[in-house]
Amino acid sequence: MAFTAVELIEIKRDGGTLPPEGIEWLIRAYTDGQVPDYQMSSMAMAVFFRGLDSEELAAWTAAMLHSGDVLDFSDIPARKVDKHSTGGVGDKISIPLAPLVASLGVVVPMMSGRGLGHTGGTLDKLESIPGFTTQLDPARFREVLESTGLVLAGQSESLVPADRMLYALRDATATVPSLPLISSSIMSKKLAEGLDGLLLDVKTGSGAFMQTLEGSRELAKTMVGIGERQGVRTVALITWMGQPLGREVGNANEISESIAVLRGDGPADVTELTLTFGEVMLELAGVDGGRDALEAAISSGRALEKFIEVTLAQGGDPSVLENPALLPTCAHEAVITAEREGYVTGCDALIVGAAATRLGAGRDRKEDSVDPGVAITLEAKVGDRVSVGDPLATVRYGDPKRWESQRESLALAWTVGDEKPESQPLIIERIDAT
Ligand code: URA
Repeated sequence: MAFTAVELIEIKRDGGTLPPEGIEWLIRAYTDGQVPDYQMSSMAMAVFFRGLDSEELAAWTAAMLHSGDVLDFSDIPARKVDKHSTGGVGDKISIPLAPLVASLGVVVPMMSGRGLGHTGGTLDKLESIPGFTTQLDPARFREVLESTGLVLAGQSESLVPADRMLYALRDATATVPSLPLISSSIMSKKLAEGLDGLLLDVKTGSGAFMQTLEGSRELAKTMVGIGERQGVRTVALITWMGQPLGREVGNANEISESIAVLRGDGPADVTELTLTFGEVMLELAGVDGGRDALEAAISSGRALEKFIEVTLAQGGDPSVLENPALLPTCAHEAVITAEREGYVTGCDALIVGAAATRLGAGRDRKEDSVDPGVAITLEAKVGDRVSVGDPLATVRYGDPKRWESQRESLALAWTVGDEKPESQPLIIERIDAT
């Protein structure tokens, strides 16, 4: 059947249902350059307003997935499991988690992203380890995976080219926050990794892209449905992102905190999420042992050894993992202090994440480089008692002008009141396939 972009746009504009062959044609024709950006952006806006039903969404995701190479690790006998986070502030969980579960025999072909908006990116954090390369060609990606059971890399150019094009288009046409477009974008990339199991960490709260629980739940259910339809066992956990995770927000400082988790002395929230996600990944991989095995891998040093092994395999300098004080840092330091006494009732993840980005831990423009030493260390988190003058955060920065522009807004992240706030559960809900 022959299609034209105009006909398909009209169907969606008027609230109709796109035929699966039409979707397949559209995505292929867009990737080949036959359908221009202006028609695809019109379609993205029509989808933004009209949505996609479950059949359309399955066809859309499959068409994106098959727009490029799909990895096949079926010759590696163990089950391949990855974890994906929808993005948060201080969210370094992938860094201790991947070596931890790999040290117990789960094969983890982890493909991560760079910082997006106010959220940090695993690749930027890993690259603060001197020499660590996250850009691996497919042959090297496989070699590292086969030799260590783990690889921590960026998306290769040949996977899901349709998403690379469409994502940039959505970014420039105000069509990013669309549930079907977000879920198909994330899932097409994950499904191209040749996985048997996938854990989705869907963040909710001020520092998340989905700020309401309803929105996060709908995104989680949609993505779990797509995964299961493609034959990949998928579990989603909805987790709290109202305040940053752990004490460190930045890049090199988040590597230090990840190493602390692997040494058994990380902050309670990061450790708890790492262990809970680890349990689910073991379950998805069919590996026995659960939490006890994960805790033993930390206390025996086996998990940290796995991180050292993958760092060496990816060209990184392992001495910084033995001695995190050698990681890059910035020359200047400032402290934000409490102006009143009481309990910290809020530490807004969005404000902290945006300030870290503006100070240079993230990018304003795609071509910017990040400063690995920029660091916000949270000295007080929700529930802590503070007196006037107590430190709320220590900030390290390289550019005093940037600090001047962020000082006031960063201080607004903390709210202090008389009542101790109720503690907020970190893990809100688990969503399995129905
Ligand atoms: N992350 C993605 O990979 N895609 C989206 O659309 C949003 C977040």
